[in-house]
Amino acid sequence: MYLEELSIPIAKLQGVGPSLGKDLNRLGIHTIIDLFLHLPRRYEDRTKLIPIISILSKGGKGFVNTLAFVEAHEYFWFGSQKTLKILIRDATASAELVCYGRNFLANKYPPGVQVRVAGTFTYQYKRIQSSSFDLDNPTHPSEDFSSILPIYPLSGKLSQRLLRKILRQGYAKYGINLKDELSESCRATYALLPISEALRAIHFPKSMEEPDLGRRSLAFRELFSFQIEVIRRGMERKVAIRPPRQLPLTLRQRAIHSLPFPLTEDQYRSLAEIDRDIEGSCPMARLLQGDVGSGKTLVAFLAALRFTEGRIQTAFMAPTELLARQHADNAAKLLEPLGVRLAFYSGKIPLKLRKPLLQALSKGEVDIVIGTHALFSEEVRFANLGFVVIDEQHRFGVDQRKKLADKGIHPDILLMSATPIPRTLALSVFGDLDVSELKSLPPGRRPVETHLARIGNEEKVYSWVEGELQKGHQAYFVYPLIEGDGDLKDAETMYERLQKSIFPRYRVGLIHARLSEEEQRSIMEDFVKNRIQVLVATSIVEVGVDVPNATCMVIEHAERFGLAALHQLRGRVGRGSAQSYAFLVYDPNLTDLAKERLKVLKETTDGFRIAEQDLRLRGPGDMVGVRQSGLLDFSIAQLPEDMELMMEARKEALRLLEEDPGLLRPEHAGLRFILELRFKNATSGGAP
Ligand code: ADP
Ligand code: MG
Repeated sequence: MYLEELSIPIAKLQGVGPSLGKDLNRLGIHTIIDLFLHLPRRYEDRTKLIPIISILSKGGKGFVNTLAFVEAHEYFWFGSQKTLKILIRDATASAELVCYGRNFLANKYPPGVQVRVAGTFTYQYKRIQSSSFDLDNPTHPSEDFSSILPIYPLSGKLSQRLLRKILRQGYAKYGINLKDELSESCRATYALLPISEALRAIHFPKSMEEPDLGRRSLAFRELFSFQIEVIRRGMERKVAIRPPRQLPLTLRQRAIHSLPFPLTEDQYRSLAEIDRDIEGSCPMARLLQGDVGSGKTLVAFLAALRFTEGRIQTAFMAPTELLARQHADNAAKLLEPLGVRLAFYSGKIPLKLRKPLLQALSKGEVDIVIGTHALFSEEVRFANLGFVVIDEQHRFGVDQRKKLADKGIHPDILLMSATPIPRTLALSVFGDLDVSELKSLPPGRRPVETHLARIGNEEKVYSWVEGELQKGHQAYFVYPLIEGDGDLKDAETMYERLQKSIFPRYRVGLIHARLSEEEQRSIMEDFVKNRIQVLVATSIVEVGVDVPNATCMVIEHAERFGLAALHQLRGRVGRGSAQSYAFLVYDPNLTDLAKERLKVLKETTDGFRIAEQDLRLRGPGDMVGVRQSGLLDFSIAQLPEDMELMMEARKEALRLLEEDPGLLRPEHAGLRFILELRFKNATSGGAP
């Protein structure tokens, strides 16, 4: 039998009646598969003795597994319940066992006897106590005292012991002889356990190392299924659903002529790739990756012009109001002279303007609408939506993107991302997307010079900034918090300090997410117009803000930001022709890893390389575009930790498919687990 055939109701197990059934259901356990995939939170190593005193060196809380004497019994009132307390002592310390609902233990373990005790103890109010412990006779203790014990999430009346008993029964009945879909050579190549062994290693491990191996073996299968699905969807998408078409190019050519600069080679190449999609008979689902400032937006506008000329509408969506407005302003400069009918749409549009706007959209009187996620909403209708552009795609979920796409009939979709991930990775996560890359920045840009400074040396940084301000340039100061908690510098406090004592001769402004959109906009405008020289901010300035005259980016507590975020922030400067600088001010008590991460930024300005390093160093929560999006929420595998495993699973999936393309048919028996080891919400990040 295969694991996925075990969708046998849990009630089939002995002793699982309605009430226990309900407790299990609440944990998401309905079938034997669910039971097997209910993973322990942690493991307790009860093969070794751990004395009571040891918890003091573990911050006052920890697992104890010891041999002790019962010294005395005491009773106390817990509400209206008289409750037993057993005082024990081992060779290192004494402790109290609080026996809520277990007064019967008094008879079994009178003062003077020896006991085996295992449980979690805490040190509080000068006493060491436990209320969740196991007790046994020391001469022949149960295996709870001599094995590696999995500790599961519980609910209701379910206890660890009971759950383990159910699992033992279930495993003996259904788990031992499961067939394995992976071939032996595949298992050998990737060091994976057979499925039955993997389940045993997770639920009945013989060593503390086994569970990891078991988990990895299951995760591989899950990722493998996911990859097959991603590849299948990718192929499905390549099915022709429309006749090849030609859309005119005149408008685009006129736009290119009107530009004060030539397009880069990468921009031309990406446009050519996009054009192939536009003309082809299966809809575009393309990810355009490129560093901040690499000119993605321009490529998107130029792509849209072919649709405009073909009387097909474009929706262009950005993650924030600020960014959407900026795109709209740029579009107006470039496109309005060509007669393109533009509109801006966000939740902030006053009601009386909204109606006519919506009407114009639905009548096809707008060619390109630029806006925020408000474009998703019900009331937005299009006459003929054929092109959807989504900026900073990782900030939107697949569902949201689908909502917008559904407003047209199989529209072409262009996703843009300024947090590039390596191509191989992009393909394995967004495997059903095609990928275009803008690798080089437009010529004439000087790379931003990046310096690391320890906290304590900020004065040097500030005086450097002062020098830039004297030259007429502007600066950003970014902090991790809006308001202080005492430990970290925060935007509000530093705003006052920078204004009063450090740059009294310049105007300092403050922007953060707690200000209204209106306030944010007016402060940004002041900064754009150089009425403010120093802008103090949180990471809100991360996306999109474009002020070429700003040449300094100071990020204090840089260690608090992810690599990708730092790179984005740095991308706010270096947008004009003058040399720009980024200063990463960090806490000197950094771990080596954190320091190494910051060094990566100093050494390179190439977003693709930073992404690779990011992946290598695995900074916490740093794989923007993968984790942030919550796109890939598996039941066993975890990203980004299991990224390498994912790549391996992809390799194996591609290899198998090459051997036998028929495997892609879902009914194929050899891949029956495709649909079964269910990746919970995992939808490929790709095409809606
Ligand atoms: P991205 O969206 O990738 O961050 P943008 O499209 O906003 O980049 O471009 C950043 C800036 O570079 C804009 O001011 C844009 O006009 C300019 N730009 C775009 N392409 C070129 C080019 N080929 N040469 C010079 N400047 C360019
Ligand atoms: Mg951009």
